[in-house]
Amino acid sequence: MTNHKIIVAIDGHSSCGKSTIAKAVAARFGYIFIDSGAMYRAVTLFALRHQLIADGEVNREKLISMLPQIKIEFRYNPEIQKSDTYLNGENVENEIRQLPVSQNVSPVATIAEVREAMVRLQQEMGKNKGIVMDGRDIGTVVFPDAELKLFVTATPEIRAQRRYDELTAKGETVSFPEILENVVERDRIDSTREVSPLRKADDALILDNSNLTREVQLSWVIAKVEERLNGISLNDR
Ligand code: C5P
Repeated sequence: MTNHKIIVAIDGHSSCGKSTIAKAVAARFGYIFIDSGAMYRAVTLFALRHQLIADGEVNREKLISMLPQIKIEFRYNPEIQKSDTYLNGENVENEIRQLPVSQNVSPVATIAEVREAMVRLQQEMGKNKGIVMDGRDIGTVVFPDAELKLFVTATPEIRAQRRYDELTAKGETVSFPEILENVVERDRIDSTREVSPLRKADDALILDNSNLTREVQLSWVIAKVEERLNGISLNDR
């Protein structure tokens, strides 16, 4: 084992279990886990609460001018052994996962100024390495030099089913077609936007988990992290 720490960048499509993998890998290596999507979701919640989104149209100028008023933090919650997302001091972890935010987050994430502010925060969080971050542009923009990059995907139907199961398990009443539509639409906006579109970094490894159990995925990713860590310690000799 080595004392070196690396950055693990996990990108991919919506609802393909990136955060679950990232969280488990971070726990295994004692790394910090950051769900960058939660940050874009928190900005979206802020915009919704300030009536800056109407019928899917974002008031970009107003939102940009209000960006300095948005403070996003992650605070560790020992009860659930994970971090909750805070928006201006309020725990918004549950609210940012609900459909109104999911339906409006991709347009908000197309705004260059919003992305600049989030990327700056994310880079700051990773400056000491020892971090696993998941999102859409982590391996391409946020940490282009990350030692391990993964691109995770699965079929849209499987991803929508997973999100449906997750929300119904929390007692929410949701419709499967609506969730599938949201997954497909978010992929479309994320992949075609001008600023930092979702794409696989040239040096990212693809993980299609359509037919893989969590355990199989996790052991595969852990093996890749260990390969990178061993590579670094060998180079040091
Ligand atoms: O990961 P999650 O699905 O929670 O992310 C919500 C949305 O935030 C994505 O659909 C995408 O529009 C945006 N996002 C992004 N860049 C990231 C992470 C998320 O544009 N690094």
